[in-house]
Amino acid sequence: MIQNDPISEACSVAGRLSRNLIGGEWIDAESGDTIDVRNPANGEIIGAVPSSSANDVDRAVKAASESFENRDWRGLSADRRSQILWRVAELLEENADHLAHLETLDNGMPLAKARGLAVHSAAKFRYAAGWCTKIQGSAHDLELPHGSFQTYSLKEPIGVAALITPWNVPLALAATKVSSALAAGCSVILKPAEEAPMTALRLGELLVEAGIPAGVVNVVSGYGNVAGAALSSHRLVDKISFTGSTAVGKQIVTAASDNLKRVSLELGGKSPVVVCEDADVAAAAPLIANGVFSNSGQMCVAGSRIFVHRSRHDELVEVMAGIANSLKVGDGFDPSSQLGPIVSERQLNRVMELVSVGVEDGSEIAVGGTRVGTTGYFYSPTILTAPRPDSRIISEEIFGPVGNVIPFEDEEAVVEAANDTVYGLAAAIYSQNGQRAHRLARQIKAGTVWLNTQLALDPSVPFGGFRQSGWGRESGREGIEEYLETKAVIAAL
Ligand code: NAP
Ligand code: MG
Repeated sequence: MIQNDPISEACSVAGRLSRNLIGGEWIDAESGDTIDVRNPANGEIIGAVPSSSANDVDRAVKAASESFENRDWRGLSADRRSQILWRVAELLEENADHLAHLETLDNGMPLAKARGLAVHSAAKFRYAAGWCTKIQGSAHDLELPHGSFQTYSLKEPIGVAALITPWNVPLALAATKVSSALAAGCSVILKPAEEAPMTALRLGELLVEAGIPAGVVNVVSGYGNVAGAALSSHRLVDKISFTGSTAVGKQIVTAASDNLKRVSLELGGKSPVVVCEDADVAAAAPLIANGVFSNSGQMCVAGSRIFVHRSRHDELVEVMAGIANSLKVGDGFDPSSQLGPIVSERQLNRVMELVSVGVEDGSEIAVGGTRVGTTGYFYSPTILTAPRPDSRIISEEIFGPVGNVIPFEDEEAVVEAANDTVYGLAAAIYSQNGQRAHRLARQIKAGTVWLNTQLALDPSVPFGGFRQSGWGRESGREGIEEYLETKAVIAAL
């Protein structure tokens, strides 16, 4: 690792972030058990966070519940809550560089990307701050056979929200959930992924500094099957917002059924990219490469099934192979690195296994397909061609920098192939014919469809999946609604 002051500072902050935030206090797990946290660029241990048990979770849920019942947060004026969320955004921005170093140390992503995501996280809090003063119901009069009535609706916070996040974009995903839940007036428990929990704990510190009352935000680290499962089944939790794998999403639905808590799920994807015969391939290829290689492919929206009109197939493969070859894979702290490591050895092994399966099933490697170095968990950007349509490489989410290029003949066939998946998170269409692009956008089953671009996201744009990519939406008005209940009041006149 290249040594300089901000990196040493991030190391010492990672060492300090070893406790849960519960009821406004920083405390160890009751058992004293911890989970080692590693830097995926070299496998070294950078700190240890609490391995929380069901008892620790229970304590955090009770703190959240008490703050909700006491109206410590939701009872403040909307203007005051807005001010505090705006202050969180300012603190995120002031600390963006420092947060970026912590994220790169823990998750491995290139520092410039981590910095961009810290600034984006601030934008999420500013967007949410604006909603505090704009959450309102509606009113109308009723004439019924037995009298006249006025009816109005109240938009009330759901209550205690448990927010479970993955390791791929740790700070930004935590910021999305926490900011929306707080704008709605909920009290929350945030459970980050054991693989990359540091920036969520640091966010907890900044939320306290900004003036969020004690107990309103609790941060509890721990294993998913222990701490996450305890949150999913806890009777005082009214809402679960989860981002992660489809398999765990299904477990959460089952666990949540006991008290029928509200559930929203941002799950996996196997997003199609459609390159039409009239596409500007030279302009599209860098966007497509970014859409599958960025963050080393560890993105739920990765465009990993790249359908291209047969007449443009070889051209696209050649340009993308050139881009893949030019990408520098290395330690996220090295400013020349464009792709960092895969988050863990386990995840690297999964990527390597799926690529082997693809090759055994007949795919050809146009570029990449190899581990990079032996220290840390680096993998080369990879393009496979001629995949068998029923291969696991085509049906399963890889979560690594691996794209499959698949030729198609006509529009009808590509729509059918693009929709031939259990997922429906995102899609991209490249065509210089606007009419065709908009027509295809209507036929693809996905929560987000990009036309002649990829990865464009904003706090104002609803995001989520069709089918097994999830339930509900994050961001936009819809993202705030996920944390609200509607109450109808009917008054006799
Ligand atoms: P995961 O197991 O679904 O983990 C996501 C979060 O859920 C983590 O905080 C995890 O905790 C927690 N969790 C695990 N089991 C749980 C349970 N039974 N109840 C409640 N919470 C639970 O995902 P992963 O293991 O990190 O990655 C596996 C695959 O998921 C990836 O290969 C990728 O395909 C997919 N993934 C998708 C996204 C996305 O944005 N849609 C993000 C990440 C991963 P711990 O990690 O601390 O155990
Ligand atoms: Mg880590």
